[in-house]
Amino acid sequence: MASDTDQAVQLPPRARVVIIGGGVVGCSVAYHLTRLGWKDVVVLERKTLTGGSTFHAAGLVGQLRNSASITQLLKYSVDLYGKLEEETGQATGWKANGGLRLACNNERLAEIKRQATSAHSFGLEMHLLSPSEAKELWPMMDVSDLVGAAFLPTDGQASPSDLCQALAKGAKMDGAQIIEGCRVTGFDIRDGRVSGVQTELGDIECEIAVNCCGIWARECGRLANVSVPVQPMQHQYLITEPIEGVTADLPTLRDPDRLCYFKEEVGGFAMGGYELKPMPWTPPDGIPRDFHFQLL
Ligand SMILES: Cc1cc2nc3c(=O)[nH]c(=O)nc-3n(C[C@H](O)[C@H](O)[C@H](O)COP(=O)(O)OP(=O)(O)OC[C@H]3O[C@@H](n4cnc5c(N)ncnc54)[C@H](O)[C@@H]3O)c2cc1C
Repeated sequence: MASDTDQAVQLPPRARVVIIGGGVVGCSVAYHLTRLGWKDVVVLERKTLTGGSTFHAAGLVGQLRNSASITQLLKYSVDLYGKLEEETGQATGWKANGGLRLACNNERLAEIKRQATSAHSFGLEMHLLSPSEAKELWPMMDVSDLVGAAFLPTDGQASPSDLCQALAKGAKMDGAQIIEGCRVTGFDIRDGRVSGVQTELGDIECEIAVNCCGIWARECGRLANVSVPVQPMQHQYLITEPIEGVTADLPTLRDPDRLCYFKEEVGGFAMGGYELKPMPWTPPDGIPRDFHFQLL
């Protein structure tokens, strides 16, 4: 792989598909295309893999959504994470420690009961628990205002950077080329279709370009006169020192009434919130060029 300082990197003159962005999404697209037998796959990353949002994701993997197709997709992810380390030799930090979802009022309880019915209909294990059963799984929790909970034993958590590296490694094992330190600066357009990608290191002809630029997706789309409705938002989370009683097998926990989540992290917690009034991040001159492995 090339690095930011490596000037000797040679771009291939053409590829069937150029994937722009080496975060978990770009690496996953490369992994899956190579698994489908595509050989001519190139990933271009402006800095280094995982340095966008991926490196600081909390890494909770929950499968249940309101849509059956998204739930099935997440179920597939869990199956993949279970075998990716064996397949690639790269650790992913995946552990199926289960996921606990709390209900602190009757409306929420009715919702999780409905969700359990849909979960079962698409083959996802989900058990309804009483407050005392939930406390057995999460002994330090005050359950005095809990009316019920649900437990999904196949949910879990992963290390997002490691997962991304494992997907990249799997893609490379099947012939993908991953080039770091290569920023895409424009597109060649022929008959309304992308026919090539321009970069700081030269141009690559391609049949398909895939925009996997995360919070940069709008900027990247603009280079091809495509409006991508992506707005970066600020998100906060905290990580505690080790806490007695927090064990590695503690399930992840979501409290949709208080809009927060927890997961075990090195004997303590990573805890984040789903903000009620989320704050957009709109730097006046766009995302700074050196924004990489950085937090706000
Ligand atoms: C605090 C926090 C906690 C989170 N927790 C979770 C969680 O628990 N579970 C979960 O599922 N998700 C979580 N997420 C969300 C998750 O991090 C993101 O959805 C995911 O990492 C996005 O990956 P990505 O590949 O789309 O973007 P990124 O990882 O940002 O990758 C985009 C890449 O594109 C590159 N790029 C940009 N422009 C160009 C260009 N012109 N040329 C070449 N390369 C370019 C960038 O350098 C970057 O590496 C969390 C996010 C945050 C911020």
